Amino acid sequence: MHAQASPPLIAQGPEGLMRPTQVLVDTDALAANFAAIRRHVAPAKVMPILKANAYGHGLVPVARLMAALDADYLGVAVLEEGILLRQAGIRTPILVLGGIWGSQIPLFLKYDLTLTASSIEKLQQIDQAAAALGRTARVHLKIDTGMERIGVHDYHAEGFLETALRCRHIQVEGIFSHFANADAADLASARLQLERFHEVLRFYDQRGLPPPLRHMANSAAVLRLPEAHFDLVRPGILLYGVYPSPDVPRTVAVRPALTWKTRVVYFKVTPPERPVSYGWTWAPRQQTRIVTLPVGYGDGYFRAMSNRAQVLIRGRRYPQVGRICMDQMMVDIGWGTAYNGDEVVLIGQQGNERITVEDLAAWAGTIPYEILTNINTRVPRLYTGQHAALVAGPPPGETS
Ligand SMILES: *Cc1c(COP(=O)(O)O)cnc(C)c1O
Repeated sequence: MHAQASPPLIAQGPEGLMRPTQVLVDTDALAANFAAIRRHVAPAKVMPILKANAYGHGLVPVARLMAALDADYLGVAVLEEGILLRQAGIRTPILVLGGIWGSQIPLFLKYDLTLTASSIEKLQQIDQAAAALGRTARVHLKIDTGMERIGVHDYHAEGFLETALRCRHIQVEGIFSHFANADAADLASARLQLERFHEVLRFYDQRGLPPPLRHMANSAAVLRLPEAHFDLVRPGILLYGVYPSPDVPRTVAVRPALTWKTRVVYFKVTPPERPVSYGWTWAPRQQTRIVTLPVGYGDGYFRAMSNRAQVLIRGRRYPQVGRICMDQMMVDIGWGTAYNGDEVVLIGQQGNERITVEDLAAWAGTIPYEILTNINTRVPRLYTGQHAALVAGPPPGETS
């Protein structure tokens, strides 16, 4: 059983209404996961990754919690996420991991966000924009060791690192790369990427310079590549209590922080051969009891899971039947019992049964990351547990 929900911290609807379809975030699980990762990688520091609404857990609340727990750094994907955190009063250093456009640079400086420089041209744009504003930009250099996404190829890095040293209005605070395959059964390509990164870092050794903050490890590398921890690690999915893949050893014990619930909104008896939902893809063979739930693919409960998903009601598993609609879906409870208003668990535990985010990923033909990040903002988030007070913002009127 999960902890008792604290009073809603995010007023969601008009008239103070709160949808019965809710995500509950266990702040104690988040705090314990963060502490476990910290212990595992020490003395390396930890940069919790909060992109995509903190993997569906709520960007600002999770950032507040991590800041209150003294996280050394926060990582987001895009400028807008960084600005939202600053506007919420978060003062922890924030690295924006994604690519940048020249026109965005003044906003990075205005909001004191750390930039990712992924080419010589971007370095020069940052240097010029910072000079024009009489500022120094804090920058992490991005090295592409095998992802072919953004960053300077390892074999061209020397000129990039030299240019960075010459930029008078740039403080090179960090240098990083990203694994393409750290979660795969075979670690050979991850080791190759690591070797390439080491080769790039020799630049500093050869010049007798201290290297900036070096970082490369995502969750999978946190778990299984201690030699890739360097000065800082960047766990995302692991912080939320989910393992990056079934092929990764579970060397850090974490538990899922997210529960997704709804309630029965309608009950009926459906006769045999009377098909259910759009397309009439499913019909009962015998008379059965069908309940309707007020949740659908518009909330992020993927339509691809139609006729495959299961839910928990009164501690029992039941199959979802017929096509999942945008806002509603049906469940066949057979001769089981359910009443309007009964709690339904979509992800999480009820009685002795549990449905995991991995289950949903398997039903939808995707990975847990995509399930979590697609739970729509239409679904209110509630924060439970001893640490819930830490996710609340300042009282109204007291903006920082
Ligand atoms: C998303 C991301 C991470 C976190 O990845 P997980 O697999 O969730 O730990 C780390 N670094 C970068 C650059 C990322 O984009």
